[in-house]
Amino acid sequence: MSGITENGVVDAVGKELFIGGKWVSARSGKTFDVQDPSTGEVLCQVADAGPEDGLAALDAACAAQADWAAVAPRERGEILRRAYDKLIERRDELALLMTLEMGKPLAEAAGEITYAAEFFRWFAEEAVRIDGGYAVAPNGSGRFLITRQPVGPTLLITPWNFPMAMGTRKIGPAVAAGCTMVIKPAAQTPLSMLALTQILADAGLPEGVLNVVTTKDAGGVMEPLIRDGRARKLSFTGSTAVGRKLLEQCAEKVLRTSMELGGNAPFVVFDDADLDAAVEGAMQAKMRNIGEACTAANRFYVQRGVAEEFSRRLTERMQALPMGRGTDEGVVVGPLIDEAAVKKVTELVKDATDKGARVLTGGSRVDGPGHFYPATVLTDVPVDARLASEEIFGPVAPITPFDTEDEAVEKANDTEYGLVSYLFTSDLKRALRVSERLEAGMIGLNQGIVSNPAAPFGGVKQSGLGREGGTVGIDEFLETKYIAVNL
Ligand code: NAP
Repeated sequence: MSGITENGVVDAVGKELFIGGKWVSARSGKTFDVQDPSTGEVLCQVADAGPEDGLAALDAACAAQADWAAVAPRERGEILRRAYDKLIERRDELALLMTLEMGKPLAEAAGEITYAAEFFRWFAEEAVRIDGGYAVAPNGSGRFLITRQPVGPTLLITPWNFPMAMGTRKIGPAVAAGCTMVIKPAAQTPLSMLALTQILADAGLPEGVLNVVTTKDAGGVMEPLIRDGRARKLSFTGSTAVGRKLLEQCAEKVLRTSMELGGNAPFVVFDDADLDAAVEGAMQAKMRNIGEACTAANRFYVQRGVAEEFSRRLTERMQALPMGRGTDEGVVVGPLIDEAAVKKVTELVKDATDKGARVLTGGSRVDGPGHFYPATVLTDVPVDARLASEEIFGPVAPITPFDTEDEAVEKANDTEYGLVSYLFTSDLKRALRVSERLEAGMIGLNQGIVSNPAAPFGGVKQSGLGREGGTVGIDEFLETKYIAVNL
């Protein structure tokens, strides 16, 4: 970390909009503050785009689309590969920047830079593997040619919790497929995306291919772009509530959509599980990103025979976690993103304890400055507690015992979400049986982390539509065209 200063990394980032390959101010001249959630202090101001800036970004994306689609796949892949190298080279300073704007501890931020970069490496390799087909028609006289083309200009919207990786997970396949983009990062964490933008420009991404609008008025800027009709796709990562609204807007001009929405992951431990592995998995599934992850374990269902032992061991691990500013040595629990997040976690814990849950550790907020909530374990959590059905998005592990396999599956599936489920058991037959019955796009089988750029990430039910990453990730940015050939 030597030589990298907090002011230095913030100063080095472009604070304006990036439109048509140039950094430009918002037409209104307005800016908004970006804060450090661990102190509440203002880090810097960035441009506050209005609807006309958004339209200028869409104009630039549309103007660049035809030429960009004609760029050789190998060249598109090599741009991503160069950006991958630069991300890895600059991992420490980018991690510091992310910790400052988002709060997660430095080691986790560095992990996210690697994870984010890996999407570029993966899609650099996918760019040259876009396939097609040639077939004989069933009647034998005609031929089918099948080719795949970029969807066209795309709109990308990303959340604050993984400020870099949620961007590269969309930009990687869009670049690989030959789509141009207007991206709107979360207002609370725009700096990582702005730094990434310069990296892509330096890696040779042509003007107009990636346009970035930072704004405090997400709906006011994005809705006209969605309703405009020239963008052919929206890829969104964020809450289910906002996703629903955007799907309605997309319906008007029938935009294609990818929706990576909220989660309410169950973490199921059977009494035949390797308890060391289950506790380790629980720590990862719960505490990655301070619990502010769509994949975070939100409800722990533990079979009665091991419930007490599991709770005791998890409590021991949770209460040993050092809390503090993410830049401080050894910190594991950083601040939550803002005051509203602390208030929500406080309310959910109070609701659970009012209904009979017991606090094993943590359980009450920590005084400021900054937005801190300690690692918390609750046990005997009743199923009607709000945190059994709402995303906690904080470091709280609610444990509810169960008796039978059927009961565990029923409880786990009792949610409108279906992003990921975690399952710990040593019985292979049970592992496969329960994995098949769990209603989720992803299953963590005896492991607490599922995210991997080479695997298809996404949810079922109200957790979303489509998949990001893996061999199917690029499909979201491609249209299939069939040419009927008359011989
Ligand atoms: P959010 O409030 O839905 O915001 C996500 C993004 O949408 C932000 O850029 C936000 O801008 C923007 N936005 C808000 N309202 C909008 C509107 N009316 N029109 C267009 N854009 C709008 O979610 P969040 O609180 O940032 O993120 C947390 C949520 O994301 C959780 O539910 C989490 O589970 C989910 N998530 C899902 C995945 C996944 O892969 N499934 C991954 C990460 C997070 P502003 O920042 O300006 O509000």
